[in-house]
Amino acid sequence: MKAAAFDYERAATLPEALGLLARDDGIVRAVAGSQSLGPMLNLRLAQPDLLVDITAVPELLSIRDEAGTMVVGACVTHARLEDGGYPDATRGVLAAVAGGIAYRAVRNRGTIGGSIAHADPAADWLLATTALGAELVLASRDGRRTLAMPDFVLGVFETALEPGELITELRIPGLSSEARWGYYKFCRKAGEFAQASAAVLIDRPRGVTRCVIGATSGRPLVVDDPSLLHEDGRDRRVAELLAATAIGGDAFQLRTHAVALRRAIAQAGAA
Ligand SMILES: Cc1cc2nc3c(=O)[nH]c(=O)nc-3n(C[C@H](O)[C@H](O)[C@H](O)COP(=O)(O)OP(=O)(O)OC[C@H]3O[C@@H](n4cnc5c(N)ncnc54)[C@H](O)[C@@H]3O)c2cc1C
Repeated sequence: MKAAAFDYERAATLPEALGLLARDDGIVRAVAGSQSLGPMLNLRLAQPDLLVDITAVPELLSIRDEAGTMVVGACVTHARLEDGGYPDATRGVLAAVAGGIAYRAVRNRGTIGGSIAHADPAADWLLATTALGAELVLASRDGRRTLAMPDFVLGVFETALEPGELITELRIPGLSSEARWGYYKFCRKAGEFAQASAAVLIDRPRGVTRCVIGATSGRPLVVDDPSLLHEDGRDRRVAELLAATAIGGDAFQLRTHAVALRRAIAQAGAA
């Protein structure tokens, strides 16, 4: 199938992009790498009147360090994060996660902001940036606001983005030199979306011990204490957490999620 006809504008500045997104004479959508929106257009699941390409907006393309916080522009591609060569307060975490997303052709175009805005529950960035404690800066013509990841993702493909609003950047707290990280995703073929996934961050100098379970058919499940690190009762606790999601009591899914978490914990050296 082919996409329905739409108009296309490529914004050169953030005010221009926000001005176009604020138009109320039809359905207006931002497009970044088009790796998720493109298929939706072709399937006619999305039929915008106007697409606003935001990939030439300089403010959305920068990666910088601000006093130990890593600030990543929304239109930074997975490939750029995979390749490194930027001030990296995550000590290689972003590069490792990026390298596991799809294959290089998708990573060359797909962006971190597009992935988070799309909010596929199986997406790698949803899980990883939640575990890292990232905040998102959202901008519209009316101003800016900052949301923590758990407040941004409301459900499956559902976020707190308001009409006319863009993610402009992610703000990721720097890890200490003692931080330990584990990340594990189950997928049938390397680089596919996760069937089950988990991330673990243990950063004792910063007082952070966080386990996050992804690919839950809902928002990532965050446990912000060490309770899941211990094997005793862990699988039962995972089952309790997942009971409230669409996974419910599905034995195969409970098992794969419990194993993903166990392997992420082992990677973080806490097993
Ligand atoms: C074959 C294939 C395999 C894949 N495998 C994986 C995988 O293993 N793991 C994984 O995580 N992902 C995977 N993906 C998805 C990929 O990571 C996409 O790049 C990502 O989901 C969307 O990013 P994008 O920049 O292409 O966004 P787009 O497709 O351009 O946009 C997606 C949505 O986000 C909105 N949007 C885009 N940018 C912004 C912004 N800055 N602010 C507000 N809204 C915005 C758009 O309006 C649209 O609704 C795969 C994709 C393909 C095609």
